[in-house]
Amino acid sequence: MAQDTSTPAERSTAHVDGNALAGALALAFGTDMTTATVQCGDCDDRHRVAATHVYLRCPGMVMRCPACGATEIVLTEIRGRIGLHVRRVTAISFA
Ligand SMILES: [Zn+2]
Repeated sequence: MAQDTSTPAERSTAHVDGNALAGALALAFGTDMTTATVQCGDCDDRHRVAATHVYLRCPGMVMRCPACGATEIVLTEIRGRIGLHVRRVTAISFA
């Protein structure tokens, strides 16, 4: 296994794609959300959930707009309960 040689600052800014939220969003919405389209409330960019940037080293999981970086959704899990906080989102369209 390769050793992680990144600095703490690099790790705090590293992100994965929106597929990382597939399981949690399916629990919250009751359907696969990775192909849903989100319209950013800041820049109006329209993109698939799978194309968003997800930051996992935050309190909860933070989904950000891939165009402008606005926080769109924050997912938290506290004592087995999932909290979904929709922030800068104008619309969500299901495929
Ligand atoms: Zn945006």
